[in-house]
Amino acid sequence: MPVRSRHERGYGSKWVALRAKVLMRDGYLCVPCLKEGRPTPATEVDHITPKMKGGLDTLENTQSICSECHHAKTVRDTYNRNQVRFDTFGDPVWVPYNATQRKEIR
Ligand SMILES: [Zn+2]
Repeated sequence: MPVRSRHERGYGSKWVALRAKVLMRDGYLCVPCLKEGRPTPATEVDHITPKMKGGLDTLENTQSICSECHHAKTVRDTYNRNQVRFDTFGDPVWVPYNATQRKEIR
């Protein structure tokens, strides 16, 4: 698989500009945390609808987010992609993204 640059993945200078706007709009606070009534500094900008599901780089589809919420959301999105396996005890086993590109060894 060829290594793709940040730009090719859609994180070019446009994204940088949008990111700054989103953080400013949200007052540099994590939107999901704020909804729970706990203001937390935002460190990242998240796509509400993930790009891989057709989410756009717009102000409407982005929110400021802290790394903890971002991680939790990524895990949730990972669930949706069926990249979580369950072991014999029914506990989730996180499958790294790249591992799903390979054939599963049984
Ligand atoms: Zn948060």
